[in-house]
Amino acid sequence: MSAPESSRPRIQIRNLQKDKVDFVLSGVDMSYANSLRRAMMADVKTMAIDTVSILKNTSVLADEFLAHRLGLIPLYSPKCEDAAIWHMNCVCTEGCKYCSITYKLSVKAHNQRVVVTSNDISMERENEEGQNPYAEQEQLSDDDTRAQRTAMETRATVPGFGLPVGQSENTSKPIYLVKLAKGQEIEIVMRAFKGISKTHAKWSPLSAVSFEYDPHNNLRHTSYWYEDDAKAEWPLSVNAQHEQPVPENEPFDYMKEADKFYMEAEGTGAVDVADVVSYVRRPPFSSRFPSFSSLPLSFFPQPDLPHPPSPFSHLFSLPCSHRVSKNSR
Ligand SMILES: [Zn+2]
Repeated sequence: MSAPESSRPRIQIRNLQKDKVDFVLSGVDMSYANSLRRAMMADVKTMAIDTVSILKNTSVLADEFLAHRLGLIPLYSPKCEDAAIWHMNCVCTEGCKYCSITYKLSVKAHNQRVVVTSNDISMERENEEGQNPYAEQEQLSDDDTRAQRTAMETRATVPGFGLPVGQSENTSKPIYLVKLAKGQEIEIVMRAFKGISKTHAKWSPLSAVSFEYDPHNNLRHTSYWYEDDAKAEWPLSVNAQHEQPVPENEPFDYMKEADKFYMEAEGTGAVDVADVVSYVRRPPFSSRFPSFSSLPLSFFPQPDLPHPPSPFSHLFSLPCSHRVSKNSR
């Protein structure tokens, strides 16, 4: 006998924008939901600045401070899986065009105070051999390997690949790096490499991932501090309308477990959030989350949220599941 429809794993997209997604994951346990959250946050590859050479710095910020701020700038890097070789697998030593991107940041405040932002960073062209113009001569293989060709071909399909977010499109503001007083100057050369957030958070495509479950606290996983009336002082979340509170006179079910998770993720701009969700549905993650790759995925706008339906809904064109009603449980 097959499992009832309400207990089968499924995912329903409630709101999807370029840098934000809100979906309901149901029919799974909490460890599964948390594994998915961690995979979205830590396993998707992006580019981030990893080596910084400070040639001049007379600003008030120490070299290490500047290097840290530069590393945290999100770089537009969709399709990063194929668009760059892992530096550890590359034939170069200090970085080449196949495994990295070189940038330069050179600003001087001549007559007045200058605010240096991510828009002042320029991407440097590699020389014809793909060598770092700032490094000593490197020995690259004569063979243009398949991975190298794939990297270049993939990068060619992504206009603006590697640009700091804000330069790649005009919808976000540049990121402030440092203010230079009159006469101060910085000159920095840096390299971005492919990485994942398990190594360092700067490679995370998401700035925040969270989920809520059991909005009525039926499972009593938390206890609310209150002064007079817990219900009045702790208003229910918008997700409470999708579940029913257990009547107060009903005996507590010690065996009941959470099986519906209201997940939200916010992107840094490095990769579209829709691509992050799609990525963890493909191998090798589909083997780690066997049922997730085959989850029925549907899109429906959440009427209570102020956002309009997303134009990215075509990305989720797998067979639709049933829509959750308020009384579906
Ligand atoms: Zn290389």
